[in-house]
Amino acid sequence: MDEEDAAGMLQSASMVGVLVNNIKKVVKDHRVDDVSIFMNDVGVLFGENCATKANHKGREALITLFKFLEASGWLKAEWDFGDEQIIVRVYDCFESRGVKSDGVNCDFVAGLLKACTKLFLELNTVYCQEMKCITRGDDHCEFVIMSK
Ligand SMILES: [Zn+2]
Repeated sequence: MDEEDAAGMLQSASMVGVLVNNIKKVVKDHRVDDVSIFMNDVGVLFGENCATKANHKGREALITLFKFLEASGWLKAEWDFGDEQIIVRVYDCFESRGVKSDGVNCDFVAGLLKACTKLFLELNTVYCQEMKCITRGDDHCEFVIMSK
């Protein structure tokens, strides 16, 4: 994904509309009360939509997508690619602005990171767990991503 691809996708797709429709689809599919799992699945679906609209794969395309999310005011992501795991530090996450909680809160972003990492890096099974969250007083949200 080059800059023009990402900008075109994010603008023409009307991100809010895509998000709303993703939520509607998952609501139809689910009959569970667990909002955490629900929002994670919405994030996965949105991530899949983003990744399939991208013309390029790979680490740079993944980072570029999140740069455009940053430019759109969603969040600021810092990626730390290790051999065993990927750490993503997320600052100013839209999902938790103004929210207070005892636990982690960013289930949508966890799903988004999971799906995008899986598809852009062409991995098999991917796990994403939020370890820190601004809602419980951490200065940023932090996600650990692992692949099997
Ligand atoms: Zn968070």
